[in-house]
Amino acid sequence: MKEFKEAMFYERLEEEKVECTLCPHYCKVAPGKTGICGVRQNIDGQLVSLIYAKASSIAVDPIEKKPLCHFHPGSKVLSLGSYGCNMKCGFCQNWRIAHKNFARDQGLVYEEVSPERVVQMAKETGSQGIAWTYNEPTIWFEYTFDSAILAKKAGLYTVYVTNGYITEPALDKIGPYLDAYSVDLKSFSNEFYQKVCKIKDFMPVLTAIERARKKWQMHVEITTLLIPTKNDSEAELKQIADWIVKHVGLETPWHVSRFIPYLEFSHLLPTPEATLIKAKEIGQKAGLKYVHIGNVPGLT
Ligand code: SF4
Ligand code: SF4
Repeated sequence: MKEFKEAMFYERLEEEKVECTLCPHYCKVAPGKTGICGVRQNIDGQLVSLIYAKASSIAVDPIEKKPLCHFHPGSKVLSLGSYGCNMKCGFCQNWRIAHKNFARDQGLVYEEVSPERVVQMAKETGSQGIAWTYNEPTIWFEYTFDSAILAKKAGLYTVYVTNGYITEPALDKIGPYLDAYSVDLKSFSNEFYQKVCKIKDFMPVLTAIERARKKWQMHVEITTLLIPTKNDSEAELKQIADWIVKHVGLETPWHVSRFIPYLEFSHLLPTPEATLIKAKEIGQKAGLKYVHIGNVPGLT
């Protein structure tokens, strides 16, 4: 019990059940069980994070890889991920860490990296900032929160690479300590988010993106992976671009990225270049100043 960190966002219910209020799943978790993300467990009526300070992956990356193209360009960022995710996307390139249940799955390898140590590592590697990425940082909340406070004190920048599925109180807690929000807007349809990402409703994603920018003045860049026949219609791309212009601002960079066939979508083709070029035109026509094509060497 002592090795786990008590969760920062939950309510106690009857019969030792708890309700997690960190993300809009609002999981009601019975004793011994974990929530949908697989990393928050009810132990004797207390909700704990099973992954505090447990990193599955650590690397020093160029900031442009996050992707953040208009935020400290040319800098290096210490990047860390853990296990689990509150979505279960059928195309997830990081499913080996993101689709794990930390309480149930055996043999998960990790390195213990305290918040103090991660700041020290950033300094030692010549990184200008720290990014929580690879799996979903929201569900690593307590650790990213403690680390972000120390990082800011040490003069480092802080980044979430996220799906944006977080409750407003949780975003407001970490908002003062996050500088950049590299966030996916995977679609503009609930049907897509339900079938492909396994969440009920994507409205909280829109709320988080707008709030990160307007309430917390984070630097926001938005990424959409274009999956042929799933989210790449001109009408849907226009909806996304129009929403960004209206709610986040026309200075917001939008990355339209090429999909590579994978997992549940192995049967599809990669995104044609023509679709990416069309998406870029749609974004520019909507008024966006910076639309970048991702995952295609030679196309930007
Ligand atoms: S963070 Fe995890 S346990 Fe909490 S509501 Fe979201 S999926 Fe459920
Ligand atoms: S939100 Fe990201 S990390 Fe989570 S399942 Fe989807 S693609 Fe993977």
